[in-house]
Amino acid sequence: MSDCLFCKIVSGAIPAKPLYQDDTVLAFEDIQPQAPSHFLVIPREHLADQRGIDAGREALMGHLIRVASQVAADKGLSSFRTVINTGAQAGQTVFHLHVHVLGGRAMNWPPG
Ligand code: AMP
Ligand code: ZN
Repeated sequence: MSDCLFCKIVSGAIPAKPLYQDDTVLAFEDIQPQAPSHFLVIPREHLADQRGIDAGREALMGHLIRVASQVAADKGLSSFRTVINTGAQAGQTVFHLHVHVLGGRAMNWPPG
């Protein structure tokens, strides 16, 4: 999608600090980290949010989660929080599916 920020990161039009990439997903550092470690894992395909994961895309969701775990392990995180915001009221600001991974500090529950 031409006006999507994360599609522009996928195409290379906007730079990001890459952590991992393959044919279907990419992981990069969040530009405004909310924890000592904060990175995002996104599909290359434009899906506005997790509701784009239909029956044919279940493996893609599993891959996003596996890559999140792998990058967290590469960063030496023994504990981390995985967040997917869906919809503006939930805090979503970029409408291209992304998995946040935050770690390196104690986390509160319930989240804000
Ligand atoms: P959300 O609020 O769940 O939609 O998360 C969007 C995330 O994208 C926020 O944590 C932003 O800091 C992050 N973000 C926005 N622009 C960029 C960018 N150019 N590179 C990396 N992360 C970004
Ligand atoms: Zn997009």
